[in-house]
Formats: sequence, C-alpha cells, structure tokens
Amino acid sequence: MQRALPLTGGHDRPATALPVVGGGLVGVRRVWCVGRNYEAHAREMGADPSREPPFFFAKPTDALCWRPRGLPLPPLSDDVQHEVELAIVTSRGGTDLSLPAAEAAIGWCAVAVDLTRRDRQAEAKAVGRPWEIAKAFDRAAPISTLIPWPGSATMATRSIRLDVDGETRQQSTLGHQTWQPAEVVAQLSRWVAVEPGDVILCGTPAGVGRLAASQEVTATIDGLPRLHWQVLDAYSKAEQATEAEALIDYWFEHGADWFSGDPAFDADLRRRFLPDVEAAAAGEFDYWAASARGRLALVLLLDQLPRNLFRGQARAFAADAKARDQARQALGRGDDRQLCANARAFLYLPFEHAEAASDTGLAVALFAQLHAESVPEQAAWTATLLRYAERHHAVVARFGRYPHRNATLGRPTTPEEAAFLRETPGGF
Ligand code: MN
Repeated sequence: MQRALPLTGGHDRPATALPVVGGGLVGVRRVWCVGRNYEAHAREMGADPSREPPFFFAKPTDALCWRPRGLPLPPLSDDVQHEVELAIVTSRGGTDLSLPAAEAAIGWCAVAVDLTRRDRQAEAKAVGRPWEIAKAFDRAAPISTLIPWPGSATMATRSIRLDVDGETRQQSTLGHQTWQPAEVVAQLSRWVAVEPGDVILCGTPAGVGRLAASQEVTATIDGLPRLHWQVLDAYSKAEQATEAEALIDYWFEHGADWFSGDPAFDADLRRRFLPDVEAAAAGEFDYWAASARGRLALVLLLDQLPRNLFRGQARAFAADAKARDQARQALGRGDDRQLCANARAFLYLPFEHAEAASDTGLAVALFAQLHAESVPEQAAWTATLLRYAERHHAVVARFGRYPHRNATLGRPTTPEEAAFLRETPGGF
C-alpha cells in the first residue's frame, strides 16, 4: 500500500523515499528512533541498563540521507557523534499491535547512523530542556539501500559495526538489542499509530564517538548493503549519491574517450563512479529502471563502466548477466524507443558482449535497425556499430565464446582458438 510520492524537481528520487535492492522506492512517512536499546550503551550514557520500556524520539523525515558520498558536520556543535543502528521500515500499520502483527508490519530494513550533537544533548539534559536539536538536523540520519525484511529469526545473530578510518569503533550483534524489532514496533504502536513507511532506528551499541572532518565512516550489518561516507568540514556541500542524470551527462559529454583506452579517462571514471558500479552490481540502483533514462544509466553502470574500470580483470564481466537482464526489460518496455541513437546503442551493447550466439545475433538485428533508422549525420557511426556487432557475432557463432577473454577468465584456450587469436589479436 504505497502512498503517492511527491516528486522533487530534477531528481530521480523523491526526497523522502528510499531505494530497495532489486528495484522500487519506499515512501517515508515518519522517522522514529529508540533510545538506549543495548545494555552496554545505556551504561556508557550513565543510565541503568535494566529492561525499562523503550523510549522514542523523532527525526524529521528529510533527515534521512540515502547513501551519501560526503556529509558535512552540522553547525553549532564541537562533538558530533556516530551511532550505528538497525533501521526497520514498516509496510503495514496499526495501533496496539500484537507481537506477531508487529513482526508482520516490518517490510524492509537497512543500516543507518543516528548522528548526534552530543554536546548540545548533554547541555539540554542538564537544564531539563528538550534535546530535539541535538538529534534533528539536516542529514542527521544517513541510511543504506533497503532490503526486504528477512524476519527477526535470521537477524539476531548478525553483527552490526561501525568503522572510522578502518578502525572499528562500534561492534555488537543485533541479538544484544534489549528490545527486538517486533517488540519495538509493538511498543511504538501503543503511543502512536504506525503506518506504512515509518522508519525506526532501533538504537545503538556501545562505542559511540566523535567524528572529525575528512574521516571515512563505514557502517555495516551482515547481509545488508553497507553505508560509507566521508565526513566533510562544516562549510562543504554535501555530496549526494550519484543520480542517473548526472551519470548520463558525464558519459555523453565524454564520447571521444569511450573506446580510447585512455588511462586518465578510466581513472576519472573510477574516482567518480567506482562505488556506484559496485552498488549497481549489488542491485542498489535497480530503482533507476523505472524510467528509460534511468535504465540507460543503470546499464552503463552494469555493462560499460566495468569494462573501463576493470580492464583485463574478470570483474569487467561480472555484472554482464544483470546488464543483459536490464537490457531485455528495456526492449520489452520500449525504453530504447524513447532515447536518441547515441543512447540506444548502450542499451544494445550488453547483447553484443554476451557469449551466446542468440544474444550476439540479437545485437546485430538491433544495430541493423538502429542504422536503418539513423539520420545522415549519424549514419557513419551507426554503420561502425553494426560492423562491430557483426564481427562480435561471427566470433561467438564460431567459438560459442570470446577466446580473447580466456586468459582473463582463467579458461584454457583450444588450438583452434589460439590460431584465431594469432590472426586476430584484438579478438574480434
Ligand atoms: Mn540512537
């Protein structure tokens, strides 16, 4: 039951929606946090760790910041601290939920960090004022891509960890939470109505500490997409996750470099997009597939960029099957028909890169059609694309694979393939 999502201008993603591995966005309604849900952390905060009911506080919905690359320290604090937490997201709701109903209400989960102005919190506590502003500020809740909730039974043994510059600061297992996720949801539903899209940060283990500019923060929970960002100084702009349009702009502004093999271009691509290439392979960018241009950007991250970033390594081909799957869905939906010829070619290349004659044959047919439909100014280029597709298809039709990949992939080369590679050093 998805509420309507307000779309913000110029972005691929509404400000208050979170991407899910495998595609789709979850609209966010409210963000709740649980205080002191691990015994050792309750002790380090000077509290009695006995099992008192969980207490709740809130962050603004737009404090959630999906997969930031860089986060500035907020103003008016000299002690901004990290608290790594399991985030759960509801897909159903209700009030006074039973434990089974509360468990069934959890739809997704992620790893998040409850950023805290500890100095301001301590001052407010000392004078009995609310400590809202210590918790509720811009980008106060960086969060990973969601996965469907695996169920409480499989979560208890998973470790939760936060590293700063490679040094582990917080580490525990989720089973050490005083109140388990279903209990948290049931308790919350006594105070307020829980509805689909409520995000709940379930509390932090011991080891909270101060963050300083330029530090690299990595937050992980076993089996969940990781969260990684660099702490920026107070005056820097936040660096958001790459949007599909930013990748498309960059790629099509650099057409001259695409197949040049220029190491400087590859290095620039790596610096800008390596985390995105890795995340796309893990399904974190599948939500881009909701639009034709988003699909194009996704296929670039899966098919073309790995070829630049991982030249001569098996990793260059690791996401090929996923790229083909996206390209096939693109054809099924007619995404290619919504794009210019230049862009269409990159939706067809995953078939040319396949080691199956049915796919490379499809690539020939697609590039032939592209060439037939091309305007005169592009005819030379589309003719080149078609010629390459035909040469690739001929190799795969003959050998069932690309012999020039054998060395990279650790496959034995047959005498016939060796003879072919002597005549055709490039491999096609
Ligand atoms: Mn917290």
